[in-house]
Amino acid sequence: MSKPPAERTEQLRADGSLRHLLTLDGLSRGMVESLLERAAHFSRPFNEPAARSTALRGTTVAIMFAEPSTRTRVSFELAALRLGADVVNIEVQLSSRRKGESVLDTVATLEAMHVDGLVLRDAEADVPDLVAAHVADHVSVFSGGAGSYSHPTQGLLDALTVLQHKGRVEGLRVAIVGDVRHSRVARSAWRAFSLLGAGEIRLLAPTALMPDTHDFAGCTRHDSLATGLTDCDVIMALRIQKERMTEADIPSEREYFAQWGLTIDRLKYARENAIVMHPQPMNRGVEIDSAVADGPQSVIRDQVRHGVAVRMAVLEQALVRQS
Ligand code: ASP
Repeated sequence: MSKPPAERTEQLRADGSLRHLLTLDGLSRGMVESLLERAAHFSRPFNEPAARSTALRGTTVAIMFAEPSTRTRVSFELAALRLGADVVNIEVQLSSRRKGESVLDTVATLEAMHVDGLVLRDAEADVPDLVAAHVADHVSVFSGGAGSYSHPTQGLLDALTVLQHKGRVEGLRVAIVGDVRHSRVARSAWRAFSLLGAGEIRLLAPTALMPDTHDFAGCTRHDSLATGLTDCDVIMALRIQKERMTEADIPSEREYFAQWGLTIDRLKYARENAIVMHPQPMNRGVEIDSAVADGPQSVIRDQVRHGVAVRMAVLEQALVRQS
């Protein structure tokens, strides 16, 4: 598992406003609530046109992902475009980083081209913090997922999804199921849900995929779906992060589904009106059955919809000049 950054870069400006978004760790409840309120303003039903504004006209956002992505990359791009920014995508595999250029040299090049916002994804947990510590004062850095450590906009969109379906996070019982150990999504969801007052956050995983005991403070741990899902309001299923572990850690997919797959029958342990979430990509028939993923309790498409709204709120908050 990749380690959290040794040195955390300050995310706020001297006046308390958001400059970078690298982690939800250390953000105040007020800051998170105001981002979610603004995201709710940008969120639209599926059958309505997307929200747009010109708040970032004249601003340039560069997106540089060194790990695969569909939703996060596209939604950051759409968010920036819908706010009126210029957007450039850097294909890391086709960039000079393949020739040995350091990430800081690549970033210095982008700065020289007047980039104001940088969205980064990396397998190494400390890359967004490292870059944020070195950029010019007017540049903001946004993590689009760092190792297994942090995926802050995912945590926000998960919180917004719960708020829109349940009206609150306060007091709810949340189950996070699967490969919690290697999941940056789980870490950011835990931060967001704890900050917003969730009643109980349960981790449900086989031993090899359960985080160390010092990690995920305050969560309860369960070694079966039967005990862990009972009376839950929110269920978050996770993909097994094969890219972050050695072969030996991985149970066969068939065995895993037999014991840990979220099926209609197992969903019955939870509350009747429980919602089912998944950050995607899903491995159907491994961590989740299609009948659940596409069933009436699934809010997975809403998570994607909220992803754009949350990223609009974050980019706007950090990049609009308050002069
Ligand atoms: N898309 C999420 C992430 O980047 C979840 C996953 O890949 O399983 O962490």
